[in-house]
Amino acid sequence: MESKFTFVKSSEQHLSDLNSNENTSHSPKKTQKFKKPHLSFVDPASLPFKPILSDEETRGLELVDVWVADIDARASSQFLSFCKSQISSSENLLHLKRFRQISNEVSGRLESAANIDKNTNEEKQPIRLTGIIGLKSVISAEELKEKITSFYSEDLIAPYLLPLPKYSPLNRTQFDSWRHVWPMGFKEDADRILKISAEDALIISAHLERLRSKDTALMLDHMDIQCASTAFIVNPQKNLLIDEADYVCHLTRHPLDHSVIKCIAKVAEKERQRKNSEGGSQAGEKRKNEEGFHLESYLCSGLDVYLATEPCAMCAMALLHSRIGRVFYLRHNTLCGALGSRYKLHTHSSLNHKFKVFCSV
Ligand SMILES: [Zn+2]
Repeated sequence: MESKFTFVKSSEQHLSDLNSNENTSHSPKKTQKFKKPHLSFVDPASLPFKPILSDEETRGLELVDVWVADIDARASSQFLSFCKSQISSSENLLHLKRFRQISNEVSGRLESAANIDKNTNEEKQPIRLTGIIGLKSVISAEELKEKITSFYSEDLIAPYLLPLPKYSPLNRTQFDSWRHVWPMGFKEDADRILKISAEDALIISAHLERLRSKDTALMLDHMDIQCASTAFIVNPQKNLLIDEADYVCHLTRHPLDHSVIKCIAKVAEKERQRKNSEGGSQAGEKRKNEEGFHLESYLCSGLDVYLATEPCAMCAMALLHSRIGRVFYLRHNTLCGALGSRYKLHTHSSLNHKFKVFCSV
């Protein structure tokens, strides 16, 4: 398939490459039998839609004052003992590495102090480290001085304040831009990585185009729309249109006459008819309706919804309660949008259903 998207190599593909290489050198027959398919995901930057992330995922670098001290590397164990026994827990700093090596400027470039005497017989200079003691908010300068004097018997370390990254990075973008301030650890949450195949991206793009053409016609008649002017629900596994509805935009309209609510109601009605025709089924039991998508007690499990405009809070909650899989919309709703503009309902950590939201670019 020729694609307009660029790709990133998936972990599955790395694994497949490794297995393939191993099998090629040791067991050629095994390679053919167990060869895994190469799964590639589209580079998110090349997609015509972008995810609506939480404020935590998009925030820039924020700093917090932290007590640090420069020490000899050979005294690092003693320094750690001091921190652990004398300073209150600094759990908020666990994303930062405890030590950073101090570099010396030699011959116009930065060079580790450990390497200065690498090619001479002179005594090596000791490695110097800057070590984190704790948050300024946890201990005052006077208290810290007292504890140092008590622990070391004398003022062996001279603490000072450094502004360091306040939060742990949640994605590679934050990690790459924050780590220059201070060394930090980072393990990307697999759920945060956008995994969209080329085939999926093409299907989504086609649905967005269809939505865009339909929306243009509707907008001529409905300029006061405060929610999605049109909506349709799709089964992404089969690329099958499940239901579609338009926003009724009159002064006398029913307050529930939003396209999203109407769409979900249509799905519910189909499910009700299906259950009646089958003579009913037990709640919670996995079942399959006439369109071929699985329902697990919730109406829209695994389905995608396409909206001309970011939905209002009522519709966003309805999508949440129906367990929608993904939401795509064309434009933001700055007046009352609940999935990106006024609120980011889908990013609340307390919700027991997670779904991804995307906006067309
Ligand atoms: Zn609405």
